[in-house]
Order: sequence, then C-alpha cells, then structure tokens
Amino acid sequence: MSKKYVYLFSEGDATMKNLLGGKGANLAEMTNLGIPIPMGFTVTTEACNKYYDDNKTITQDVIDEIHSTMNKLEEISGKEFGGEKNPLLVSVRSGARASMPGMMDTILNLGLNDKTVEVVAEETGNERFAYDSYRRFIMMFSDVVMEIAKQDFEEILHEMKEEKGVELDTQLSSEDLKELVVKFKDFYKSRKGEDFPQDPREQLIESITAVFRSWDNPRANVYRRMNDIPSSWGTAVNVQEMVFGNKGETSGSGVAFSRNPATGEKKIFAEYLMNAQGEDVVAGIRTPSPIEELDKQMPETYREFIDIVNTLENHYHDMQDMEFTIEEGKLYFLQTRNGKRTAQAALRIAVEMVEEGLVSKEQAILMMDPKQLDTLLHPAFDATEMEKHDVVATGLPASPGAATGKITFSALEAKERHEAGENVILVRQETSPEDIEGMIAAEGILTVRGGMTSHAAVVARGMGACCVAGAGSIKVDEKKKTMTVNGKVYSSDDYISLDGSTGNVYAGKIETVEPEISGHFGTFMAWADEIRTLKVRTNADTPHDAAQAVKFGAEGIGLTRTEHMFFAEDRIFPMRQMIVARTEEARRTALEKLLPMQKSDFKGIYKAMEGHAVTIRFLDPPLHEFLPTQEKEIEDLATELKISVDELNGVITDLHEFNPMMGHRGCRLAISYPEIAEMQTRAVIEAAIEVNEEMGWSIVPEIMIPLVGEVNELKFVKSIVKKTADSIIAERGAELAYLVGTMIEIPRACVTADEIAKEADFFSFGTNDLTQMSFGFSRDDAGTFLKHYYEKKIYDFDPFAKLDQTGVGQFVQIAVDKGRTVKESIKLGVCGEHGGDPSSVNFFHNIGLDYVSCSPFRVPVARLAAAQAEVRNPRKK
Ligand code: PEP
Ligand code: MG
Repeated sequence: MSKKYVYLFSEGDATMKNLLGGKGANLAEMTNLGIPIPMGFTVTTEACNKYYDDNKTITQDVIDEIHSTMNKLEEISGKEFGGEKNPLLVSVRSGARASMPGMMDTILNLGLNDKTVEVVAEETGNERFAYDSYRRFIMMFSDVVMEIAKQDFEEILHEMKEEKGVELDTQLSSEDLKELVVKFKDFYKSRKGEDFPQDPREQLIESITAVFRSWDNPRANVYRRMNDIPSSWGTAVNVQEMVFGNKGETSGSGVAFSRNPATGEKKIFAEYLMNAQGEDVVAGIRTPSPIEELDKQMPETYREFIDIVNTLENHYHDMQDMEFTIEEGKLYFLQTRNGKRTAQAALRIAVEMVEEGLVSKEQAILMMDPKQLDTLLHPAFDATEMEKHDVVATGLPASPGAATGKITFSALEAKERHEAGENVILVRQETSPEDIEGMIAAEGILTVRGGMTSHAAVVARGMGACCVAGAGSIKVDEKKKTMTVNGKVYSSDDYISLDGSTGNVYAGKIETVEPEISGHFGTFMAWADEIRTLKVRTNADTPHDAAQAVKFGAEGIGLTRTEHMFFAEDRIFPMRQMIVARTEEARRTALEKLLPMQKSDFKGIYKAMEGHAVTIRFLDPPLHEFLPTQEKEIEDLATELKISVDELNGVITDLHEFNPMMGHRGCRLAISYPEIAEMQTRAVIEAAIEVNEEMGWSIVPEIMIPLVGEVNELKFVKSIVKKTADSIIAERGAELAYLVGTMIEIPRACVTADEIAKEADFFSFGTNDLTQMSFGFSRDDAGTFLKHYYEKKIYDFDPFAKLDQTGVGQFVQIAVDKGRTVKESIKLGVCGEHGGDPSSVNFFHNIGLDYVSCSPFRVPVARLAAAQAEVRNPRKK
C-alpha cells in the first residue's frame, strides 16, 4: 500500500503528533472527545518533507490524495467546495510538531470566488459578511501565496475609508465592500498579470504549497534555532471547514487559556471580539473584551464554553491555549494546545496541579521548559529607584521582568542598535512575526494596541522578554521616530523603562536589582532534586561566583579556571611577567607573586562552597588572551623586567602563535615549565590544609590537568603534583586527601582513555575544546562562518552551545566506556558549556556521567534538565 499523506481529523489521535503536527493531532483528539469542532483534514509533516525532497513541489500522488480527502470532507459537511449551492469554505493553517505561534502562515475563507461569494451572500442573507470575507481572503491569499505585500491592500482599504468618511472597517457598507473587492482584484491583476484564481481546488493546492514554503521563511528559521526545533521535522497543514465569527452580532471569535498565562492563577483567562474573525483578536487590531462579558451576552454559550475548557484541561493534564468561534450563537473550538506561559506561571501551574492531584511530581517536572527558569533569575527594578520615576503610561502586564533602554521604532533599528552595544526598547503600534529579530535584540517590548493574547504578548512570554502591551495613551509616529504621551514628545535618544509585571511605563532609565527566589520555585526545585540522579556542579573562578552558585543549588565546583583569576587589572601584570619570562629564575620570581593571590582565592572559594567538592584546574591560558598588546603595557612590563622594550617585543614575537587555541597551553605549559605546576599545587594544598584546620572541615581538593592527549603528559605533571603536595603535607604534619584527575578534551584522549584512566582519579569532559578539535572549528572563529551552515541547513544548531551527540557525543561515550573498563569507580563529569544546556544534560545523564558543571545562573536549569532526564530514562532502581 502506498504511503498515506492526508488524514481526516476523525482518523487520527493525540499520539500522532510527529506525523500530524501538534494542531492536527489535537484536532483529531478533540474529534474523539466529542468537542464541537469544524471537521477537516491534515496533510502530514511527511508530505512537507517530501515537498522539500522533491525540489519544492507537491507531487501528483499527494495532490490526488488531497482532492479525494476534500471529496470526503464535502460529503461529511454536506457542502460543495466551489459549489453553486451551499459552498464549502475552508481555512488552511500550518501546524508543526512543536507550536511556533505566529511563525508560519494562515489563509482563511478559502473557496470564495466571484460565484460562491454571491451564493454565500444569498444563503446567509448577509451580503456584507460575504464580501467582507472575500476581501479578507483576497488579501491573505495574495500576501501568503503570491507574496504581494499586505500593506498595499491595507492602503487601498485605508483610502476607501477616507473616501467614505468612516473610521472602522465595520462601518463600510456591503456596497463599499463589493467595490473594495473589485479594487483588490484589479490590484492583484496589475501585479500578477493574471486574474485572481477562481478555481477553489487550485487555491487550495497553492495555499498548502505556501504553508510548506513558509516552514523555511527567515522568521521560522530564527524561531526554530532559539527553541531547539530541527528543520527536519517539517510542518503539517490543516484544512478545516470555516465557521464565521464575523456573521453579525451573535457571532464572535476569541482566544482562551485554561489558567492565567502570566501569573498561573487557576482561573480561565479568555478574550473575545464580537463580529470578528480570529485574526482580529490575535493581531490586536481592536482591543478585545474579557470572557466574563459573554456570560451577560449569551449565558448558555458561556456555560458550554467553560465546560469545554475544563474538559480539555483535565484531558491533557496541562494548561490549554484554545481558539474558539461563535457562529450565530453556536460555539466551536478551532484548536487547543499546551499554552505558552511565563516562568512564574509555569511554576505555579506545575506546583498547584500536583497539589490538585491532576498530575504527579514527575509529570510536573516535565511541564516546565528548563530554559525558562532563566527568566526567574534575572533582574527587576530597584523599588526606591522606581519611586523616583513617573509612570507616563500603563498598558497590560503582558510578560514580566524589567527592562530599560532607549526608544526604537523598528525591529531592524533595534537589531542594529543592539549590535552596536546599545540597550533598546522596541516600541510598536503592534508587532507582527516579521519583528522577531528586533524583539530578540530589544531589552523589552512596548505596544500601543493589542491584548494579552496579541502577537507581542505571546511571543515575548515565550522568549521570557519583558513586554507591556496595549498602552493606548501613547501615540507613535514611526516615520518621525517620536512617541507622544500626555503632550510630551520622546525621541530615539530618550530612555524609557518597562515593568512587565505591572504594565507600567516609566520615563528615564531605572536601575535594576537581582531577583529573590522563593515560594513555588523552592517547592518545584526540591522535587527536581529529589528525582534527579545526575549531580550539578558549577564553573566558578571567584568566591563571589561560587557563593552565587551555592544559592542556586550547586553541589560543588566542577571547574575553576585558574588563569581567569588573573584577568583583573592589578593581577594581569605578574601573570604576563610569568608568561614572558625567559629564564627559570625570572619565572619563579613572577610565580612568587602569583602564589599568595592564588592561595587566598582558593581559600575564599573553599569557604564559599561550604565544604562541597572543588575541582581546580591548572593554568590553561591561550597565550593570545594574555600577551600585552598596548605600547604602554609593554613599556611598563619591560621596566619591571629590567629589559629594553625592543627585547621584550622580541620575546613577544617569539611567543606569537598562529593558532593559540592549539598552542602552548594547558598541560603543555607545565611540561615546559614544571615550576608553574609546583606553585599551583602549593596554593591548592596549603589553602585546603588551612581552611580544614580553621573550619574543622575535611575538604578533598581535586586537581585537574588540562589538555591531556597522551597518558605520559598526565604522568609527568602528576608526578610534580604528588611530589610537591606530599612534601607540604608532611612538612605541616597535616592529614589531607586529594585527587588528581584530568580534563578529557582532545579526541586522542578519548580513544586512549583506558590508558589515561590508570593515572586519573577522575575525568572531566571539556566539551568546548572537544567540539573545537573534533570538528576542527576554531572556537574563536567559527561564529563567522557557522551562520552559513545554518542558512544552508548543514547544521541546525551551534555545536558549541548544544552538544553534537552523534559526533562529539560518541567521543565522550568512547572515553566513558574505556575509562570505566579500567577503573569502574572513576568519577566522570563535564565542565564544557554544554553542562548547562538541557538537551546536552539529557545526553550526559543517559550515558551515565556523575555530574555536569555549568555557570552559576544555569545551575537551576541543569538541575531541572537532570530531573527531566531521570523521569524520561530512570537510573534509580
Ligand atoms: C572546555 O574546553 O570545555 C573547557 C571547559 O575548558 P576551556 O573552556 O577553559 O578551554
Ligand atoms: Mg578546554
């Protein structure tokens, strides 16, 4: 049997999400649940992938299947597509596996043409409605399918309103709309050189093609990269019988959440507009009414609505985001999906659903996107600072957080100014999906129109960006680049500040403060800790960072980069002295200066970690980050070293490396100059002995040797460490256990890990270097060309941010297997950037590492990701 590419909603269910997309699978599930939905069918994600495989064409076999399913839909609905009686009209919408709100294109009212519009007018007795639908369809089809800018049509509409002396679309008469349709079609013909297509079957295939094409549009690509969605998933297309919210005063459209998406409160949150289509609500063109109003207007419909919302939430065990339409008093649900929500709301919903008995702790853990935790850990306004500023306008608190920056009126300018180092606030009448890059670049987003479910609100919430929507008292002049509030004019040089939690807009720049973490966060994270088996450490180079990480739940330090302790202005000098020293004596003099600094830092770090494990990595300075480049610095250093500037310049030239990332760094430095390893061992061991004595602790310091590719390198450095450490311990008459391990960050180390394990107490995977050396991509330069890889779909993601599991992951796996064969108890961790990336954490859990280590702010993210990994693939027996 040949493969099936098209499914009626009645042929699917919720488990078929990969094939039918989220929307298609949910529509199928809703059909099974008996929820009133308009019937339709789904063209599968496999058909989309086939479209791309077949050189961006839909092949005849798929077209035939679409047509024959359309015939079935005609039968079910009792209507005829393009018929002269009772014509069937449909919507065509995208629906990928993961929801991508507003990222792809939608076409409504498809099936209208010069004939069917007349039939609709006659059968409904509502000519205005028929022509209003037709003009909307012409505009959407032209925009989405034919790529004629929507603005051109809007301009024609605007001219007509001026001509007729009216302000709102709804004030145009049916005669006006008929005239508008003629104008739209003429304009179409002037652009395309042919008539607007009249055959509904042709309209349908063209529209499905356009939705497939939109999977690859730039804004969809940006969104996918931000949200870890591979391009290989493809999108499905849903073709669904139209119901109309714009049929008059007993019709309407709306958007609903089963709980409040901003706060998480257990209260249905919905907005609707009477006599409107869904796009009017989402686009924020008119400000919608709260759903409670519907109870007054149509109490029965309201009750039915509440029942369905509750049914859906109970069925899916998660907060639902739904679209609905009332057509002449009859209620339909058009879609449901798990709702996007703020981090605060996500925590509250997860915790309360466990308390309500609706979900288990394990299910609750899976409900929160680990990356979203980030937004809870970011600054808010300083309360006293805030009091000094006037509230100049108030909008809806669409997405919480605090943002301050200079005003910018276009997405492109926001992006450019952000890249030039400015903090900007994007101010728009309303946003649309084309604004996505500007929204990412901006500190916060302010819109004049639109509700809590407008594009700006939904997208900002998903990104965790601060957003105030619908601040109607603001007048924006995008051309003049000004914004006027209460008679005062603000320009692009002025600062404003947004409070996304109250909706307040302030004039001027307001300082921000670190957030406090409590309540639901604590409860939720305690569950994550109870569940997970993978430990979470932190990468920290200072006592301050270490203390911060402990607050965020770090269970130790997985990496202290000792060279980072010398970036400070007053410390870099002796470090440079050490690097340029040409004799052992000169080097020892510099090391003498470094020793007390290192020792006191280590003591601070041990104390901040309150007795938890601390891994200290020996110096690994890529030389180009440390050599002096400024004339003044070179002069000062020459004076200190008592050599001439010329001589020093000569040394610097000698030290120059063509590829410092693969140069004289890591253990290579200690092999050339063992006195460096001696000094560092002394600092680590003396600090530990002293802190243990002072605090009554028994810290076991972990010394880590970087960039080992050959066991003899490790053996050599380890012998220096042991000799130095043991003599200090003996001299002091102290008792101190310590570990010596290595980073595994060179492919050769992975494939010889069995030999290396004999010498190492632990392995810590340095996946930054391991990625660099596995791909042969320089860490410093890859950014400039990787963007071409994304454009050409060679890679979907940056392998430095998200572990390449198929390639680099295999190296890690090989080293784990080989290491454990020789030493079953060897401790295994990871300290590359991937330790804070949720999908990579999942991989590290699955291959059995003991811990991941990441920057302090990502510790909660990693804790949650580790718990999710345990739920998906339990290690606990
Ligand atoms: C690594 O290479 O992954 C690592 C943690 O070390 P660094 O980033 O300091 O090279
Ligand atoms: Mg490294």
